[in-house]
Amino acid sequence: TAQAEPPYLRGLNPPQREAVLTTDGPVLIIAGAGTGKTAALTARLAHLIFTRKAWPSEILSVTFTNKAAREMRERVGRLVGDAVEGMPWLGTFHAIAAKMLRRHAELVGLQSNFTILDTDDQLRLLKQLILAADIDEKRFPARSLAGLIDQWKNKGLVPADIDAGESERYANGRGGELYAQYQARLVALNACDFGDLLLHMLVILKRHRDVLAIYQQRFKYIMVDEYQDTNSSQYLWLRLLAQEHKNIACVGDDDQSIYSWRGAQVENILKFERDFPGAKVIRLEQNYRSTPHILGAASGVIANNGGRLGKQLWTELDVGEKVKVIGVWDGPEEARRVGEEIDAVRRSGKSLDEVAILVRAQHQTREFEDRFIAIGMPYKIVGGFRFYERAEIRDALAYLRVVNQPADDLAFERIVNVPKRGLGDKAVAKVHQLARATGVPLTTAAARILDTDELTGAAKKSLGRLVGDIARWRDMASSLPHAELARQLLDESGYTAMYQAEKSVEATGRLENLSELVRAMEEYDSLGAFLEHVSLVMDNEGGAQDPQVTIMTIHAAKGLEYDTVFCVGWEEGLFPSQRSLDEGGVKSLEEERRLAYVAITRARRLAVIIHAANRRIYGQWNSSIPSRFVGELPDEHIDAETTMSGGASLWQANWSEKADPFADVARGTGRGPGWQRAASPGSTFSSKPSRVVESRASAVSLGNKGRDDLSVGMRV
Ligand code: ATP
Ligand code: MG
Repeated sequence: TAQAEPPYLRGLNPPQREAVLTTDGPVLIIAGAGTGKTAALTARLAHLIFTRKAWPSEILSVTFTNKAAREMRERVGRLVGDAVEGMPWLGTFHAIAAKMLRRHAELVGLQSNFTILDTDDQLRLLKQLILAADIDEKRFPARSLAGLIDQWKNKGLVPADIDAGESERYANGRGGELYAQYQARLVALNACDFGDLLLHMLVILKRHRDVLAIYQQRFKYIMVDEYQDTNSSQYLWLRLLAQEHKNIACVGDDDQSIYSWRGAQVENILKFERDFPGAKVIRLEQNYRSTPHILGAASGVIANNGGRLGKQLWTELDVGEKVKVIGVWDGPEEARRVGEEIDAVRRSGKSLDEVAILVRAQHQTREFEDRFIAIGMPYKIVGGFRFYERAEIRDALAYLRVVNQPADDLAFERIVNVPKRGLGDKAVAKVHQLARATGVPLTTAAARILDTDELTGAAKKSLGRLVGDIARWRDMASSLPHAELARQLLDESGYTAMYQAEKSVEATGRLENLSELVRAMEEYDSLGAFLEHVSLVMDNEGGAQDPQVTIMTIHAAKGLEYDTVFCVGWEEGLFPSQRSLDEGGVKSLEEERRLAYVAITRARRLAVIIHAANRRIYGQWNSSIPSRFVGELPDEHIDAETTMSGGASLWQANWSEKADPFADVARGTGRGPGWQRAASPGSTFSSKPSRVVESRASAVSLGNKGRDDLSVGMRV
């Protein structure tokens, strides 16, 4: 009877209940955004504990972030009370693997108190090895090797698995050898890197049947959220652990797979049914999060992807407001406009905690941060640092401070050996001594020490060059516009080159941040005025308890929801990103489209999509064209508005060109494939129970070979 029903089942719909109550055997829950997948998984965890099917310590629950793990723990706690105590195996793959590895470290030659290296340590170590191997680090940067090793680890490959082809990817075939050396060094240091946490455990589980048996027996139940973003090594790990009881429930959404660049394999969804025959596949179709217009808009965009599993979504929520699509003149206007819209939200009595701004790339936060500081709008950056707190920005600012203010010792210390120029701690200590002894700033002492015998050889030469550079930049400061000065300074100091050599996704982001910094400087009259602005910004740490607007990347927003969501910078070259366009493949473009789907579906009540007609790049205005994803939004779900007088013609000009979604678009040149206002390709409305949004358009394309098995057990 209803009365006897435990609290965690209340309000769940029939397929959700099924997901909760089908405790035994493999279960795969594949459903669109906002259909209550995470909610069902949480209830399932509560159910297992409440009905004593397992002790909390016998359940392995994997979440995508630590934050998600915390939330799940709290929610289960509320549902079953004290019984929740413990849940030692609830966390991210890395957190769980680290915990296991501490127990069995000796099996891979480590001690249980091993250190987990951060990226800096990792790079330093790799550089030593590269140097020792007589490889030119400038041509074959340590970061590239680090990225490669990470990829191998994500695939579950140990050094012995690296064949010549793989090895070829670094320093003419020496990748494998360096990987082996690196692993040996780590063991000698009693350390491991992030990727090792899973890899070591995988090796242990494969080689030591007794250890495997312990965990196979222990984990009576295994649950995984955001399953579409697991990588190969995580998948292998799960498969091993689940072999005994086979009670494994995974929830995911193929349309939300957005981490392939980190090795995630959406194909794991398909492998699941093969590796766990007889898996029960549950589909959730009722969306509880978003209004029909928001869902319709998101479905219309994602329908343009091929090879989808295809699913239906419907909602009982009121039709609500259409998705707002706003064309603005430029970046500053975009930030201004978002500020105004948020003010309106605030005036209507809603909390700022319920507002999010989603950017494609980290550097985009800067414009909003500056604007919000100016108008006193409280904000926080989630999953990253505030713009001016990012390492590369602080470094660049330190250079500018040294130029602006000779006595800025802190700034000098920060940059004296960044990028590395052979000025070790010893050399710097000598400069310090002289500065203290003679009561002068470090830059002065650095110049003076060159006239003594304190420093010799390479250190002396290198300090001499830095001192000379600083003097020259100071001279230039009086004649050159300060943004131009910054640009030259970053080039001449070797700072940009350091990241250019890397070619990693991370380095690209840092370079983008640096250009954004230069762009920001253009808005100020002088270097001094700009630096003052920055110190004020840095000081602006609002009380974390007060309601704040959240600014974050779409990647960081996965699984989250907000009443009002601003999707900004929807322009070709920004979103889809230039990188995805350069790669030119269907795959990278489709991943961008999934990002668009994730972004829109974070919104509960109102989604606002903004594109600017002009972006300033290196002091020059470049016209940009709206993202093709804007063109893919079905007309019936949007209210389009443009604040530009010249907007219509630009809009039409691009419209008439033939759409070629995979052609390159030169960034900001305004030339490109153009986009079409598609008549909501494949996304049609039918009226099901109430308002039905259908998004099964591309499901038909599943018929291609190799994908046939995808549809087994799935209603497509
Ligand atoms: P995503 O794909 O974005 O991760 P999801 O499928 O995990 O989404 P949830 O976050 O679990 O979806 O749920 C979305 C919203 O719907 C949440 O606010 C949740 O509380 C609510 N919800 C889930 N199930 C129900 C239900 N049966 N009745 C009412 N609200 C529900
Ligand atoms: Mg979820």
